[in-house]
Amino acid sequence: MKKRPLGQNFLTDYNIAQNIIQLAHIQPGEPVVEIGPGKGILTQIIIEQADSLTAIEIDPHLVRDLQNRFGDTPSFKLVEGDAAKFDYGSLGTRFKVVSNLPYYAATHIMKKLIHFREHIQSMTLMLQKEVVDRLVAEPGQRSYGSLSVYVQYYCEVQRLLEIPNTAFSPKPKIDSSLVGLTPLAQPKVKVSDPKLFFKLVHAAFFHKRKMLKNNLKDWQHLFIEENGQAQMADIDLNRRGETLSLKDFADLANHVHALSEV
Ligand code: SAM
Repeated sequence: MKKRPLGQNFLTDYNIAQNIIQLAHIQPGEPVVEIGPGKGILTQIIIEQADSLTAIEIDPHLVRDLQNRFGDTPSFKLVEGDAAKFDYGSLGTRFKVVSNLPYYAATHIMKKLIHFREHIQSMTLMLQKEVVDRLVAEPGQRSYGSLSVYVQYYCEVQRLLEIPNTAFSPKPKIDSSLVGLTPLAQPKVKVSDPKLFFKLVHAAFFHKRKMLKNNLKDWQHLFIEENGQAQMADIDLNRRGETLSLKDFADLANHVHALSEV
């Protein structure tokens, strides 16, 4: 298959497109942002339902075609540019995002959106299935990792729909899934130093098969021995990072933070 440098696998199944927009629950009066409108299959349906739509597309040829097709619609605004660099804060608050994200930049753009979470009501995103497996994974599951913790810390995550690769042209090698991310008013767990929390989470998953006592060596001076076992914040460090819940990671980070303040 020819390489698609801009992740241009266009959705061609109109029923699935309608299903996606239904699952985005667009209500009257709500502004919507679409990333990568492409040939406009989702754009057309969103325009029929939303009071306003801002679409961000990087490919100038597609921008020209979209402008020709929808340019006369007053509620439609098209931005030519890179969605990974866009200042979403400039769009005001509480819009909904809908996107069939380009594979190559999907995680990067999703993290950028989470950075602007205070402006966003919900995100309905199509991603490769394997990435969605990671977003929804719980402790102990094979796909659970630092991306699961990162996204679940900031958002309610819900797997919404499976989309086979046959629904796209050109057909990608992999299947996709639709996921709903709803930014939380407060992060899922209380953390005194988020930077330290994420540093610890990354370290805990660095060598996935290693025990915490090996991955968390930077904090070795804070380990205590209990019945011959290394512990920190009452967590047995013979465990692997993949078994820890968000609350466990928060307990570890808050413990380290408290001790470093003494
Ligand atoms: N929404 C269309 C659909 O569902 O058929 C197209 C989806 S296609 C997977 C991804 C789209 O994102 C393409 O139109 C591509 O040109 C565009 N794109 C790729 N990288 C982008 C970026 N960094 N910023 C904005 N758009 C981008």
